[in-house]
This record gives sequence, C-alpha cells and structure tokens, in this order.
Amino acid sequence: MKKSSASKKTAAKTETAANTETGANTETGARTETAANTGKAASAGAGSGGKAAARKTSAAKKTSAAKKAGAAKKTPAATKAATGQRSAAGQETAKKTAAKKTAPLKRQAPAKKPAVAPKKATVAVKGVAPAKTVTPASPRGESRTALVRRARRINRELAEVYPYAHPELDFENPFQLVVATVLSAQTTDLRVNQTTPALFAKYPTPEDLAAAVPEEVEEILRPTGFFRAKTRSVIGLSKALVEDFGGEVPGRLEDLVKLPGVGRKTAFVVLGNAYGRPGITVDTHFQRLVRRWRWTEETDPDKIEAAVGALFPKSDWTDLSHHVIWHGRRICHARKPACGACPIAPLCPAYGEGETDPEKAKKLLKYEKGGFPGQRLKPPQAYLDAGGKPAPPLGAG
Ligand code: SF4
Repeated sequence: MKKSSASKKTAAKTETAANTETGANTETGARTETAANTGKAASAGAGSGGKAAARKTSAAKKTSAAKKAGAAKKTPAATKAATGQRSAAGQETAKKTAAKKTAPLKRQAPAKKPAVAPKKATVAVKGVAPAKTVTPASPRGESRTALVRRARRINRELAEVYPYAHPELDFENPFQLVVATVLSAQTTDLRVNQTTPALFAKYPTPEDLAAAVPEEVEEILRPTGFFRAKTRSVIGLSKALVEDFGGEVPGRLEDLVKLPGVGRKTAFVVLGNAYGRPGITVDTHFQRLVRRWRWTEETDPDKIEAAVGALFPKSDWTDLSHHVIWHGRRICHARKPACGACPIAPLCPAYGEGETDPEKAKKLLKYEKGGFPGQRLKPPQAYLDAGGKPAPPLGAG
C-alpha cells in the first residue's frame, strides 16, 4: 500500500513539474494558454498512465498468482510460505516497475501546438530589422522589473523600426499644431494635412481665425468631418489665445487644457512636438497597443498615461508616443494586425491576434511599410531619405 501511495506521489510530482516548467517559459498570452494546455495534456497523460499502471499491476498479480499456483503443485506444503513471500515480493516489484513506467508516459503526453511567435520576423518588411530573439517572462504575474524591461525593450525595437518617427500633422508653428490636432479628432492626419493649407493660407494667425466668419471656416473644414463643432473649437481657442495668452500658444499643460477643444492628449502633442516638453499621447492606437502588450489593464486614458509613464523615463515619453502610434497605424491595426509581418512579434503577448501568414500579413501593411505615401504633405527629410513618400494634396488621390 505504501508503494502505491509513493507511486501516486511520483505521478503528482511529475505533473506539477511539467506545469511549473511550462509556466516558467511562458511569455505570452498564447504561451500561457499553452501552459494550460500542457497542464491538461500532462493531466491526461497522468490519467492514461494511471490506467497503464493499473493494467500492469493487475498483470503482475496474475503472473504472480500463476507462479504461486505452479509452485503449490510442485512444492510441498512446507515451502508454501516461502513461495508466498516471494510472490508478494514479485507483486511489489511489478508495482514498482509499473510506477517507474508511468512517469515517462506523463512526460511524453503530447501538448497542443501553441500559437508562438516566430523568433524572427519571417517577412522582410522594408526598412525593418527583425526583432532579436528573447526569452521574456510571463506577462501574467510578471514582476514589475520584468514588465519595465519588456516595455523598454519593445520601445527600443520600435525605435529601430521607425527611426524617422515624427508627428504626422503638417505644422510650422505651435498655433498651426494646436489647430491641426483639434481638427484630427475622428479623422486621419492625412485628411487634416490636406485641409489645413487652405485654412492657414486664409487665417495665418490666432487673431485672423478669432475674427473669422464661422460659415467660411466651416466650408474649409468640411472634409475633416464634424466641421461645425470643429469650427467652433478652432475659433474659440483662437479667441482664448488672443484674449488670455497674448496671441501665443502657452507652453504649460495647465494653460493648454483650458483652451476650448484642447484636452490632455492635444496638450501633450503640442508640448512634445512644439516645445520639446515630454508628454505621452494616449490616442486610440496607443490605448489599443499598450493593452495588447499588457503594459497596463487600464482603460481610462489618463490612467493609461500614468501607468505607461511610470514604465519609462520622462525623456522617452514623446518618442515613445510616436513609436507606438506609428506601429498602430502601419502594422498593429485595430481589426487586422499584421502579426506575420511584425518585427516585434517575438516580444508581443498578443501575437496571433491578427494574420500570421507572412505573405498575407505583408499585404496589410500601410504607408511606407507597404510602399504607399505617408500622411504628411511635407514630411521631414529623414522620412524621405528612408524611402517615404509625401502624401498627395486634397483632390489629387
Ligand atoms: S501586429 Fe501582432 S505581433 Fe505585432 S504588436 Fe500587433 S498584435 Fe503583436
């Protein structure tokens, strides 16, 4: 009886070891799932192993009993006791052998094939260096230190993928940037860039826009959608700039957020890109990607900003925002992320959420990664040097 119990313990230890080892290697959600699957497989293995052990034990008993019967016929009654002892020893040996054979069966239990990102990007994305192989920790139950390291690693990889990342709104001064950012709500930066040349040609300063006839501004802003509300916002913020800030865009967060139509997101775009003051821009792409990467579970933009900001030095915030947003626009799309063509796939817990076939994924890439024009009509030289193309003006395509 003791030996059977030892056998059970051995089986339990084997299963636990299988789970622990798989868990230790878990990095991604997919891998966590794998860990669960492996655990199930190990469990299934334990079940089948247990049955095998039972069969073997029963066989051993039968053999032993047969031997015993044979011995009884051949030997006198005086030797029966000794034969019985040997038979008992034989049973125990059979049990031990069965127990030993059971353990390897559990280890050999087949695990489900996991959805694990390839160690290297399998498609050569133009200008993209594949992410290096890493063995990160599991996002579930990941330590704070491991999370910080993983987040910074992703940002470093993205900096290599998008060395020319920049704000994708065309602007020449802080006034143009704050207006363009307000107009970018619910539309693309491309559409804003195609619209603002006419706006700033007619209203180059806050004073000009503050004194504008709303209907005339509405006609210019029509292509950006929600044009009546946007007209009210840009005229209102121009008036506030003239009346409260001497016609200048303020360089402080607390002043910027007082302007009509300006929230923290717009304020950080202006601070980071017009004044060189670090800020995290939590737009729709940023929210989606940081959740996919399990940097935070927060859903409120202000809480996301705080949670992600705590993972990076302040000096990284503006570039980090560009990297994340650029990746969301080009590769890690909302509906069809191009996982099979993603250079940071080995670092991503959400690998497999989108298309993993390299050739199909490559067709999902946008802007310069797909060989198409970018969003800016006047992109920085670094973008053009990297093979990027300027966006066409309104009506040109
Ligand atoms: S494209 Fe796929 S692998 Fe790449 S970051 Fe997005 S979800 Fe992860």
